[in-house]
Amino acid sequence: MLSPTLFFLIGLIGLASLAKPTAAETALPNIVLIFADDMGYGDLGCYGHPTIRTPNLDRLAGQGMRMTSFYSAPGCVPARKQLLLGRYPGRVHTNGNTGVNGRGGLPDSEVTLAQALKGAGYSTAMLGKWHLGYREERFLPVNKGFDSWFGLPYSNDMIPPWVKTEVPLWLYEGTERVEHPVDQDTLTTRYTERAVKFLERDHDKPFFLYLAYNMPHMPVRTADRFRGTSRAGLYGDVIQTIDWSVGEVMKTLKRTGYDKNTLVIFTSDNGPWLNPPARMLQEGNLLWHAGSPGPLAGHKGTLLEGGVRVPCILRWPGRIGAGQASAEMAATLDLFATLVQAGGGSLPSHKIDGHDLRPFLFGDTNKSPRKVHYYFGSRMPGAVREGPWKLHADRRLFHLDIDPAERFDRAEEKPEIVAKLKAKLDGMKKEIAGK
Ligand code: MG
Repeated sequence: MLSPTLFFLIGLIGLASLAKPTAAETALPNIVLIFADDMGYGDLGCYGHPTIRTPNLDRLAGQGMRMTSFYSAPGCVPARKQLLLGRYPGRVHTNGNTGVNGRGGLPDSEVTLAQALKGAGYSTAMLGKWHLGYREERFLPVNKGFDSWFGLPYSNDMIPPWVKTEVPLWLYEGTERVEHPVDQDTLTTRYTERAVKFLERDHDKPFFLYLAYNMPHMPVRTADRFRGTSRAGLYGDVIQTIDWSVGEVMKTLKRTGYDKNTLVIFTSDNGPWLNPPARMLQEGNLLWHAGSPGPLAGHKGTLLEGGVRVPCILRWPGRIGAGQASAEMAATLDLFATLVQAGGGSLPSHKIDGHDLRPFLFGDTNKSPRKVHYYFGSRMPGAVREGPWKLHADRRLFHLDIDPAERFDRAEEKPEIVAKLKAKLDGMKKEIAGK
């Protein structure tokens, strides 16, 4: 039988070992951020799609947290500003368009997620779509914090006949233009093969991999071996290619042992492109080469939920509890503040619109720090949400927990909520206008 003293000592040792953080808790996490283009809220099995099969993403959701009120922006460029700068797009001036024919780019005063993590000692790599400026070398990802980049400078449709331009669509490797015309059939699998190679490296520093697929943005393309594999047609094949890619990434993380301390995030930049202009419906593009907003209304380009609410899955073993789903509000804006601080970096001195999600993700609280979200499509916000209530600039008011499809305008019934949210919206407009 143990003496009371010995029992006490064992108890102390037990307490000490409990208090001591494990290596995985003290080491800075690796970060893999996977960003799909124009993938809708309803396109994944774990978000309710009836025919597209996404076993790898479903598994990822089962191992982490699946968010059901996660916001990006209604278009490719504002979405990338929010994600990579942690700022509402109205604050960020690129001095011109950042697509083909445009001369704009991120000013030097902006600090990207890659720059902030690099400053904290991270290796950084980018694969895929940039869309934040290409006309000058200083605008390219390798001059915005990424050690390497292989990908397209903007959207995959910015080429004749869909977009009028004399500028060829080049595939870049760093600052070099390496392929034109681009073989879009193999873009997704090539990004994935490169991601696997990057993850197989013997990293002596924590790493940040930004894997920004061009798909499923129209024109949708995939490799031969994925064509015809989905009951949901070519669009389904493309989503299933991305799902296969996520599977390859996760297999590699497991094989290398990095997965124990790697935060993996999967999300999308905006909702499905259900309203493409006539110029897009040429050369094999069909109206149904687009995703689904699931139970939401709207699509890419609108501030209805289907335009801006996207799937988001976060996995970090030992830190984020497995098998969770949360309807708490969060946004791509919050990833900047969360990831920079998780990586031991410091936030820039200018205004950051994101919150640190870690206490929420780690289960210290079941409430997200995001209480208010402004919907930016252009320079000024066009809607605001606080709690379940969302006010559009035209004064329509919806209760999103009851009515996620925004069918029932409650403005007449709730004038006090309209007034409160209108004041918030006006306040943000003034702030952005610098008044
Ligand atoms: Mg997009």
